[in-house]
Amino acid sequence: MDGCYLDHAATTPVRAEAAAAMAECFGASFGNPASLHRAGQRARRVVESARQCIASHLGCEPEEVIFTSGGTESDNLALRGVVAAARGKKHVVTTEIEHSAVLSCCAGLAEEGVEITRVPVERTGVVRAEAVLAAVRSDTAVVSVMLANNETGVLQPVREIARELRERGVAFHTDAVQALGKMALDVDELGVDLLSVSAHKIGGPKGVGALYVRKGVRIAPLLRGGHQERDLRAGTENVPGIAGFGAAVEAAARELTEVAGRLARMRDGFESAIMAGVPGVVANGGSVRRLPQISNIGFAGIEGEALLLALDVQGISVSTGSACRSGAPEGSHVLKAMGVEPELARGSIRFSLGSGNDPAQIDGVAKIVVETVRRLRKG
Ligand code: PLP
Repeated sequence: MDGCYLDHAATTPVRAEAAAAMAECFGASFGNPASLHRAGQRARRVVESARQCIASHLGCEPEEVIFTSGGTESDNLALRGVVAAARGKKHVVTTEIEHSAVLSCCAGLAEEGVEITRVPVERTGVVRAEAVLAAVRSDTAVVSVMLANNETGVLQPVREIARELRERGVAFHTDAVQALGKMALDVDELGVDLLSVSAHKIGGPKGVGALYVRKGVRIAPLLRGGHQERDLRAGTENVPGIAGFGAAVEAAARELTEVAGRLARMRDGFESAIMAGVPGVVANGGSVRRLPQISNIGFAGIEGEALLLALDVQGISVSTGSACRSGAPEGSHVLKAMGVEPELARGSIRFSLGSGNDPAQIDGVAKIVVETVRRLRKG
């Protein structure tokens, strides 16, 4: 086996369609979309066509899609933007297992006097909808619960929470960065007011994403400058990035059902092979509904980082958790919130599959993982 990339939750290879769409913007469609002349209007068409494509994938109106620099900015715009517009409301509800883009943003808001409630999760990795709703107060400006966790893939009860929040008139944000391209997303069906997505998790370029903002939601911009993106995101649009994002969404949407089924089958086969090969193995979050591409496995008696490095030497790329927190001494906040024993959490690895992987390759990786774990345990 010539190496195998299994860290698609960190980032994905750029799709040929996305690269071609971007190349066009480094050539003929180089204009500034705000310019009134032909070159500008050509770039404007590129941006609006990508917006249309993303809107149709999310089931919303194009003007409800705001382009940003990625998932992190989308999360920050959603939370900070709604808090800033909701004068007097100084409380935010979120969960213990959000991505750092949400948790660090909340920590920043807390320093500015906003009260944050972080709702714990069950051992399964799922937050209880009732627990989130019980935390909501009359001064809650926004609730943020991710659609699927980036370390375990575990799906959260977003629809249930949305239904109740709608009646109470509280803005609801979900981080759908890992869910995009792996499950059908429809903002009305989910019932959310704000939803974050990012291009580089689905074969698009890095540094571009979007925030869905439901019409009528009160939100203030983070940046002040020009009037781009309905005054919500000042600055000349990243036209090549947006073009690549649109092309990636179109390609991901086309193959969604087929790819999701294939990834889930490969993931299940992979987990079974590992569990049959070595004892003392747990699939973190494996007992509940989760995204098809993520498998988080805890190996008792070894250090995750040692396994990661031993696999890397053999050409297999995996991670010990979120790429944004790699090297963080405190370990995974997600596994900790799930009550995973510290020793097992330290021995946990996230394998995240992508559409370029095939079953033979995954079988080969499972064998290597089994051999490597046995060797490390002996050592
Ligand atoms: N939210 C989740 C759930 C993620 O997995 C990530 C990326 O790892 C982000 C937000 C941040 O996205 P970006 O890298 O586009 O800033």
